[in-house]
Formats: sequence, C-alpha cells, structure tokens
Amino acid sequence: MQEKHLDFNESLELIRASGLFTTHTPVPAGHDSFDEGILSRYLGHYPGRFGIDWDTLLSLGKIHPENRDEKFSMSVLAANMSQNVNGVSMLHGKVSQDIFKDMYKGYLPEELHISYVTNGVHYATWAARDWKAIHYKVFGPEFRTGHYDKSCFDRIYKVSDDEIWNVRKLLKNELVKTVTERISDPALCSHYTPTQIVKINETFRPDVLTIGFARRFATYKRATLIFSDLDRLDAIVNNPERPVQFVFAGKAHPADGAGQDFLKQIIEISKQDRFLGRIIFVPGYDIRLAKRLVQGVDVWLNNPTRPLEASGTSGEKAAMNGVMHFSVLDGWWVEGYQEDAGWALPMERTYEDQHYQNELDAATIYATIENEIAPAYYNYNDRTRLSKEWIGYIKNTIAKVASNFTTNRMLTDYCNQYYYPQAERYNSLAADGNRKARKIAAWKQKVLSEWYNIRVVSCMQPDASYIVSKNDPIHGEVVLDLGRLKPEDIGVEMIFATSDAKGALHIQEIQQYDVVEYKDGVARYATSVQPERTGMYQVGIRMYANNPELPHRQDFPLVKWL
Ligand SMILES: *Cc1c(COP(=O)(O)O)cnc(C)c1O
Repeated sequence: MQEKHLDFNESLELIRASGLFTTHTPVPAGHDSFDEGILSRYLGHYPGRFGIDWDTLLSLGKIHPENRDEKFSMSVLAANMSQNVNGVSMLHGKVSQDIFKDMYKGYLPEELHISYVTNGVHYATWAARDWKAIHYKVFGPEFRTGHYDKSCFDRIYKVSDDEIWNVRKLLKNELVKTVTERISDPALCSHYTPTQIVKINETFRPDVLTIGFARRFATYKRATLIFSDLDRLDAIVNNPERPVQFVFAGKAHPADGAGQDFLKQIIEISKQDRFLGRIIFVPGYDIRLAKRLVQGVDVWLNNPTRPLEASGTSGEKAAMNGVMHFSVLDGWWVEGYQEDAGWALPMERTYEDQHYQNELDAATIYATIENEIAPAYYNYNDRTRLSKEWIGYIKNTIAKVASNFTTNRMLTDYCNQYYYPQAERYNSLAADGNRKARKIAAWKQKVLSEWYNIRVVSCMQPDASYIVSKNDPIHGEVVLDLGRLKPEDIGVEMIFATSDAKGALHIQEIQQYDVVEYKDGVARYATSVQPERTGMYQVGIRMYANNPELPHRQDFPLVKWL
C-alpha cells in the first residue's frame, strides 16, 4: 500500500493474484484459529495502518463474520488472501473443497476453484546411494541432468534380479545395523532391559520380511492399528516358515497426549516376550533414521483414518527405494497404487463407527500380509533365496510408482497450473501503474454496494412436471432491477443437476442467459435450452457477479439462487 500508493482493496487484488494457498492435513490441529482477544492484543494496530475497520480485518479470517464467537482461522485468512487454493493429492483436493465449501455458499463443492498438486519427494535426498549408482548407469544420459523424467524409470526392467536383490540386501543390512546400534545405546534408548536387547539382537535379522511404520504420531494415522489382535499378530510375526518383523519410529506433538499414549502402547507391546525382536520401537526419530527406514525395510505401512491423510510422503520416499507401499487408499496412494506394485486397503469406509472400521482394517491388514505379502516375499528356493515374484514387485514400484512422485513432477505441476498463469495475471494487473488492479477493486466495491438491492422483478421457474421434448426446449426468463449496475455486471444461469446415492448434488449442465432487453435500470435475461442428454434433473436458476477479468467465480463469490 505504501510503495504503490494503493488502498487496501486495490492492494488485495495484487496480493491475491500472486498468492497460492497450499492447504495441508484436514484435521482441526492442522488449521490454527484464534479468539478475537488475542488477535486484538497483537494485531490491534493493523486496521489503522490499512485504513480499514477492525471488523473488516476480522472478516478476512471468518466464514460467518457476523458471528462474534467464531474464531479467526488462519486457513480462512489464507484462502481469502490467495487467488488459488490447492490440496496436496487428488483426494485431498476434493476433501478440501468440502472443508472450505461454507466460504462460498451458493456454489457446490465440486464447482470450487480448489484443486490439487500431488506432493512428490526429492530424489537426490531420499534415494539410497546404491540405488543411485544403478539408476545413473541404466536410466540413460537424460537422467543425469537431474530432471528425472518418468520414462527413464522404465529402464529398471533391464537390471538383473541379482543386482536388484543385492542392493535390497545391502540396505536391509544397514537398517538392521542402525536399529541394533540405536537400541543398544543406553544414551539413546532406555525402554529395553539389557536382557531384552540381547534377545532383540538375536531375533531381528535382515533375511526376515520387514515392515516399517514411521511418522508423526498424530492419532488419525492409527499407529496402533495392527495391535488390535495381539494373538493374530503373534501368529504372523512368529510364523516358522514365513516370519515377519515390524520396525516402528516416530514422535508425537508435545501437546498431543493421545499420540504419546499410542507411542507408549507400542513400546509396551514390543517388550512382550513373544514380540521381542519382531516388533521394535526405535527411538530418536529424525531425518537420518527416516532415511534408513524408508531405504531399508521391505514394505512401508500406512493405515490412516480415511480421508485424513492429505498426502503421506514417506510412502513416496519408500517407493523411490524399491520398497513396496501397503496403505489405505488415501492421500497420494489413491493415485500411486497399481496392481503388482504394492497393496491397498479400500478407499471407501464400510462403517460409520470408527471402532468397527478399525477392526475391519486391522483384519484386512493381517489377511493381506498372510495371504499376499509374505507368500510373495518367501516365494524362493532355499539355494538362491531370491523371490522373482518379489523382485517383480520392486521393479514395478520403481518404474510405475516412484516415477510419478518426484519433486520435479510436482514442481512442473505447480508451475503449469499455478505459478506461471498467476505470474502472468499479476503482471497484467500491475501494468500501467496497477491500472487493472484498481479497476477490479473499484468494480467489486460497486457491485458489493448494489448487490443486496437488486430486485428480482420476475423469474420464470422451470416447472417440476415439465417434460422437455426434442422440439420443445425449455425457455427461461429473468427480469432484474439492477439499480446502478450494468446488465453485464450480473450473470444469470440455469443449472441442471442430479443427486447421488448420498443425496449430494452434481452439476450436469449449465446454461447461461443472454441480456435481451435493458431499460431504465431493468434488464431482461433469457435463454432457451435443448438438453443434450435424457434423464431426470433438478433444475435451478442463479444470478452471480460477472466479470471476465476475474480468474474464477470464487474470486468474488456473490451468487444467489432465484
Ligand atoms: C517424510 C517425512 C515425514 C512425513 O511423512 P508422512 O508419510 O507424510 O507422515 C515425517 N517425518 C520425517 C522425518 C519425514 O522424512
């Protein structure tokens, strides 16, 4: 405002044009909000500097500004201050449309501008040195330039099974070494007795199928899910022919008592005789340990409460190292999962009751390990101890999964979908002494001041029993008294929607009205629709603030159903 000599609303146009709000975890703890008291203590001097009043400032962080008890939400503020909002996976984009839908009343969640860019992970950081050596050798000269093009990863199929298995064995050995070192170091680990440590070091071995789980201990991630039935788990990990071992690590937020309890429970269970060395909790979770884990285990487990995992990037790090992902279809895995390149739990919830859902998910996990994962891993003869089936999974994981989740792919998506188009729009708003920014701000002020005075003179409602035939289209006519507004400031449209099994509406067709007459501030809008498809539709009419200079409708979301 100071540098460019703009008022608050004009500046807001520029700020919004250059802003993208990337929203994260869809749980309340992921969306900070504050009461008015604390805000006024710290931000009380801002309205004066902005030349606005206190309520206007508050309204930027509220869905219902008139509600004094509603807290000021940083996410609502960010959405109001940014031209675009994105989730971090396809499913999370949809979930975010639902979370923010009340900010844009009159629009269906599916109509919102909120979209997504799926997270990726940084190859150079997360791929193991030994994998990089192979990749640089076979992925072709383009790969060395660091763009990590998808097609390069396909060449993993040229690598011999022996070579792949040798890397995997090497990385598992390193993991076993790290884990035993860490739990044997009294300065790091105090939760096992010396006798327990000896037993763990004897039992925990690189040739056993190893499943890893390490992340923040936020409760929605359900770290304790596989402990739902300890006898069943006992049978799985101590299966004489096909043993399985689990490595856990992670930290809970200092204020998350429930998450800390999960952590304690796992440590306690891991101390039971039958689980010593088969279930290990490794302390001191940090990036170094995270790397060892995602590179060293055979399978990476993720079992969040759906659909709360926005992305879940640790599984992408694992896939990059030929570690199969076994996860609820949530977050990135909805896009990542492919048959023969990992395992999935269904995306749909079966039960409303979370306890039943947990029980079902745990049972599905046990069955998948017993019937699919362990048999594939141990599908070898005792001479080679190399499962061709398993190595097929590893190759598919690198070629078909990891290749799609690099930061390079992610950054390309951000640039093409958001950064480049927004930079272009920002420049056009700022050109010529911010001419367009000023113009749009003035237009919004004008429409806002008149919007609630618009009088609907007449509106021809589509009759519920109306049957459209081929030669008899639907006619629509709406007459509005616009006051100071011009007919082109207001758009009128007819919406054809269907409802799904859950009663949610989905738009099938939108038909715009044309201005056919304008006199003394009164405009007549008309349309005639010949539906393209047959079927039963819910039909509605709405008017909205219309300006082709806006990037999308929610940039100025005045809309009213007539
Ligand atoms: C990648 C990473 C995470 C995030 O993992 P999620 O699967 O998204 O929970 C957390 N902590 C560390 C140390 C990581 O490297």
